[in-house]
Amino acid sequence: MNDLSPQRRRSYLDALEIDTWRLRGAPSVDEAAGPVEAPADEVQLAGVEEADWTSLRSTVSGCERCGLHTSRTQTVFGVGNQDAEWMIIGEAPGAEEDRRGEPFVGRAGKLLDEVLRSVGLDRDKVFIANILKCRPPNNRDPGVDEAAACRPYLDRQIALVKPRLILAVGRIAAQQLTGSDAPIGRMRGKLYRAGPDDTPMVVTYHPAYLLRSPAQKRKVWEDLCLARRTLRQ
Ligand code: URA
Repeated sequence: MNDLSPQRRRSYLDALEIDTWRLRGAPSVDEAAGPVEAPADEVQLAGVEEADWTSLRSTVSGCERCGLHTSRTQTVFGVGNQDAEWMIIGEAPGAEEDRRGEPFVGRAGKLLDEVLRSVGLDRDKVFIANILKCRPPNNRDPGVDEAAACRPYLDRQIALVKPRLILAVGRIAAQQLTGSDAPIGRMRGKLYRAGPDDTPMVVTYHPAYLLRSPAQKRKVWEDLCLARRTLRQ
């Protein structure tokens, strides 16, 4: 039996209905292989669901759960008021965010600040995060596997902030948070629930899109009004 290939040995043992075979006094094949170690990405996630801000931030900064860690300058954790009523969720860091380690600090970010100011909010009153904590090269869309790998971090951020309202900015955030593949134009104007606590969520256009199509600002204003009405209920 010792001279057989593992597959051949297994087929003989199965025919004899023997689960584990070992020489007297020797460890079984499974025991000899040593303890089964969890895959590296699961080890990194251990404890994230109960993490406090400090340990979550530290886990994210060392994350290697997807390939984006190889090209990032740094992770972009999120910023703002940890007790905010509004949580703004965008897509992923761009070049400027990757360089500075803060979400929405490029041109689109400046416009987001303006949009927030129009309803009396600023960066100190809201919490801002992204679907991805690392910049995808050339600002390409997040991959399905990248978004899935990063999702537990965002879910924990939502659970810690406990916002009363989530504002999803842009198609990627809206689709990721709802699980829908509807175009963003059809998702606007409706109330969704998202995150680990089913927080009310409103969807609006991404400020980068507004930079290209300023005529759509009015629709974003309408979305913010829906968000405000939702908060008043
Ligand atoms: N676009 C995003 O969606 N997030 C950022 O942080 C910057 C640009």
